[in-house]
Amino acid sequence: MSLDDFERFPLLFGPSPVHPLDRLGAELGGPRIWAKREDCNSPLAFGGNKTRKLEYLVPDALAQGADTLVTIGGVQSNHTRQVAAVAARLGFKAVLVQESWVDWPDPVNDKVGNILLSRIMGAEVRLVRADFGIGFKDSWSQALDDVRAAGGTPYAIPAGASDHRLGGLGFARWAQEVAQQERELGIFFDTVVVCSVTGSTQAGMIAGFAGQDRPRRVIGIDASARIGETRAQTAKIARNTAELTGLGRELRDDEITVLEGWAGDLYGVPVQSTLDAISLAGRLEGMIIDPVYEGKSMAGLIDLVRSGDIPADSQVLYVHLGGQPALNAYSGVLG
Ligand SMILES: *Cc1c(COP(=O)(O)O)cnc(C)c1O
Repeated sequence: MSLDDFERFPLLFGPSPVHPLDRLGAELGGPRIWAKREDCNSPLAFGGNKTRKLEYLVPDALAQGADTLVTIGGVQSNHTRQVAAVAARLGFKAVLVQESWVDWPDPVNDKVGNILLSRIMGAEVRLVRADFGIGFKDSWSQALDDVRAAGGTPYAIPAGASDHRLGGLGFARWAQEVAQQERELGIFFDTVVVCSVTGSTQAGMIAGFAGQDRPRRVIGIDASARIGETRAQTAKIARNTAELTGLGRELRDDEITVLEGWAGDLYGVPVQSTLDAISLAGRLEGMIIDPVYEGKSMAGLIDLVRSGDIPADSQVLYVHLGGQPALNAYSGVLG
């Protein structure tokens, strides 16, 4: 089996754009920094990394005769918004379990941003009180049962489309896309910096890059504030994806790097380094990043460059995974 043996339902514009962040690089006094932009990868509701993963889940849903996509996330989940958009595109229904993972006091948290977009796209939004967790939840089983009881055929998509047999394939293909863009640009990204929470984004990349000739560092920055779970799930999905795509060898532990230090104490709650990273990217590059995910991974990149951990002669690819709609619920700390 190789990646090409899996059916893919196109949901993206094509390869996502790659461009330099030269003012940021000059400010940090270090390596050349580039961004690859999953935040503008698709015509569907602003896209994002989950849309890329869903390209490989959709054929499975169609094969199973499903008519309703059922998934789960926090109240301002980017993932559930992308599932709502894909359901609209397919002519499916969507049931979104939106749990109170983030204790965030913004008065419009459950009205603006991602959840507003999901409602516009016709999804059934269920607000549920429950704590953060990337595993399987009762509220989610309940939603699946309810769809069946009403005569529908649900297709279950776990949080972040990650803990799913096919969850890592989208970013394994992304690794091929990067190699193609490198050939076109005449450049090699020796270091890739990416945010990790439910894990299949980084895991897919690791599995994809592992099949290429030239080794590179893939640095995951944890934004879940539960580093043990993030590491374990990233490793599990990376190994599963490597096997599924016929890598032909076991991934080594040193190929799976998820760093802690920038998530703060809680998922979804920005800390000072997050806010500083958001304002630096905005002021120097006009690049908008969010307080839940990319603000934290950018804070990690900034510190790793300043400390010399990422050497000054590196070519760094910062992966922008999307998430800006959630900014609307954070005006209190950013405005
Ligand atoms: C989901 C998400 C991530 C984390 O990706 P995982 O695959 O869950 O590790 C990072 N950034 C944004 C904007 C996301 O929506």
